[in-house]
Amino acid sequence: MINLEKIRNKNLPLTKNGHVASYIPALARVKADQLGIVIYDLDSNQLQSVGQSQVRFAIESISKVITLLYAIKQRGFEEVNSRVNTRQSGFAFNSILNLEIEHEKKPLNPFINAGAIMTTSLIKPQDNLTPFEQILAFAQEICHDPELSLDEEIFYSEDETGDVDRSLAYYLKAHMMIQDNVTDSLRTYFKQCSMKVTATSLANLGAVLANDGIKPWDNERIISSQAATFVKSLMMTTGLYNESGVYSARMGLPTKSGVGGGLMSAAPHKCGIGVFSPPLDKDGNSVAGLSVLNELSDELNLDIFK
Ligand code: GLU
Repeated sequence: MINLEKIRNKNLPLTKNGHVASYIPALARVKADQLGIVIYDLDSNQLQSVGQSQVRFAIESISKVITLLYAIKQRGFEEVNSRVNTRQSGFAFNSILNLEIEHEKKPLNPFINAGAIMTTSLIKPQDNLTPFEQILAFAQEICHDPELSLDEEIFYSEDETGDVDRSLAYYLKAHMMIQDNVTDSLRTYFKQCSMKVTATSLANLGAVLANDGIKPWDNERIISSQAATFVKSLMMTTGLYNESGVYSARMGLPTKSGVGGGLMSAAPHKCGIGVFSPPLDKDGNSVAGLSVLNELSDELNLDIFK
């Protein structure tokens, strides 16, 4: 078994090198010196954790993985692919420039905000449930976390300060990429970002992706093998904002981050990993979290290209 305590002690001081996200005011109040690490090992079917593994924090951009998987489940792979591209972006995740570079009138990928709003807009009311109620239920199931819930305070904070996301959504509408009511899709998007998870829920999500779409805790398939592979590939190419390429080359581990300080990795057929540490680098990735993942990739031989 790997010595997670040692890895945590070594990396905890790195929390001083970053800044907690403050552009969403409710996120600025999070305590900085936290580091939680959880590994879901597929071989032993067991979780190993250390530090703040049960502390709840805002999922933010990692929700884009969940919504994408749910949209594929509800609308089908072809439809989702016809509405959002799989290209890398050279700009910040919320830059409107991402939309000016149009490829076949589709946002560049589902992990920039414009692409995520597009993905969210594809989810339709079903069985008397709103799109957000469906996303929440799916998130609880795929993260094996029935307590996963919406944080109203973060939602209001996102909504109040979300004018850049509103601009992106109205751009999509003005250019006929979204025909429906963007106000509803924006509300759903702000809510999905405001769901509270733990590093453990993220390790569970990573384990499902690593296990080809089958929940390892009950052996039931929740997403198709095709969806699991597709999302892991996207995490590899676009999961870490503008640092995606750098970390694909360095640690070779499909990973998605969020500005709430979360990181979720899926090492195919090996393990799922969830890390929580709020201080971020300039691109929006957790400083201590990325360093922990680098070490885990080396020590557990997780690089998919090795
Ligand atoms: N709610 C955040 C936003 O829309 C999510 C950003 C992120 O985690 O990358 O800006």
